[in-house]
Amino acid sequence: MNQFLPHLSLLLLAAVFTAVKPSDLTASESTAAVSRFQEYLRIDTAQPSPDYAKAAAFITSQAESIGLESQTLELVAGKPLVLLKWPGKKSSLPSLLLNSHTDVVPFETDKWAHHPFSAAIDSSGRIYARGSQDMKCVGMQYLEAIRLLKKAGFSPDRDIYITFVPDEEIGGHAGVEVFVKSEIFKKLNIGLVLDEGLASPGAEYRLFYGERSPWWTVIRSKGAPGHGAKLYDGSAMENLLKSIEAIKRFRTAQFDLVKAGVKAEGDVVSINFVYLKAGTPTPTGFVMNLQPSEAEVGLDIRVPPSADPEALERRLAEEWAPSSRNLTYEFKQKVPVVDIYGKPAVTVADNSNPWWSLLGEAVKKAGGKLGKPEIFPASTDARYFRELGIPAFGFSPMANTPILLHDHNEVYFLFFPFLLGRAYVLHKTISCLPTKQKLYLKTPERNQLP
Ligand SMILES: [Zn+2]
Repeated sequence: MNQFLPHLSLLLLAAVFTAVKPSDLTASESTAAVSRFQEYLRIDTAQPSPDYAKAAAFITSQAESIGLESQTLELVAGKPLVLLKWPGKKSSLPSLLLNSHTDVVPFETDKWAHHPFSAAIDSSGRIYARGSQDMKCVGMQYLEAIRLLKKAGFSPDRDIYITFVPDEEIGGHAGVEVFVKSEIFKKLNIGLVLDEGLASPGAEYRLFYGERSPWWTVIRSKGAPGHGAKLYDGSAMENLLKSIEAIKRFRTAQFDLVKAGVKAEGDVVSINFVYLKAGTPTPTGFVMNLQPSEAEVGLDIRVPPSADPEALERRLAEEWAPSSRNLTYEFKQKVPVVDIYGKPAVTVADNSNPWWSLLGEAVKKAGGKLGKPEIFPASTDARYFRELGIPAFGFSPMANTPILLHDHNEVYFLFFPFLLGRAYVLHKTISCLPTKQKLYLKTPERNQLP
């Protein structure tokens, strides 16, 4: 890292005068922020055995240096959730929650140019680390933005909470899922959540207002066993393959809509075959002259909020797993497509939602532009908030950056728009949102402001 420091400082300085207003931070402050970011990235929080204690200690020490209240909740043993608070002047107003997860996905070290926990910075200003995009950069931007705002003497009207949560990468069951059910959460009176989005290879920032619901499904087939040389109807494999063909036709039709540009990826039902299981095993392989009596297939189905879930399940029961062909199905996971009020679990992303207008305005004021709002193609913790009817936007402010989350050589571009350039976007976003005192969110009528 040291050999790049002088070079990096120049890049940072250049970025200060292009992406960020010079008055907001100095070059030495930028360098210090990058060092803090690196320190966070170097903590091994990879699943399946993340060092949560170290991450919690780091966040707590950061909160202390910024002057934020902090508490570490252990709603599930060994899974600390750090809750920070920046008290507002009008605590009765619904608060803002800035959420990020501390865990990251595993990696294959030998496929990386630098060790995934080195946080090494190359000569082009790319910082290599697992979690650099997903989503330690966002967590650090919250803190750096608040640090800047505090330095500028800003104090919010609303209470602002910042959460660093465990286990998002394995479903959030011991993280946000239990947190939103806790008494502590209910008392926070959250009006809006900002959570993670995706990097944008183009100049526009991406913003997500909903996500597809995973329906992890297993279809099992039964049939008469028989000699491998005999042709007969109704074997388990034949029954299952008929279903697989029907599912493939549906998958192709959905995919064609995306390829033709008619629908975005997040707006179609995606289906992928994740495993096939059949055959009678032997010590060296499988019996080759026997047709098995059972077979099964695993499907990762993702259902967009715009889909008709009942029609889809009917198709599953009648066409893909009909009992008439000795097929059954089981959901390993089935996340509801609607919220607790029975409405599609999405946050309104047009000017009828004042939070949306404010966010767009704030990004514009910071010199950025939001792209068309999107449905997140996979799952994030934001679904637990939306399920309760709480507005939540997925927003990882990274423009001009390739999408490398969960990939080898996950990198974050420090030089343009670098960490604080993006923190600046967030800074403006935060400073804009809570100062609009007239906004009062009546729960549970989400997005309805007087
Ligand atoms: Zn993530």
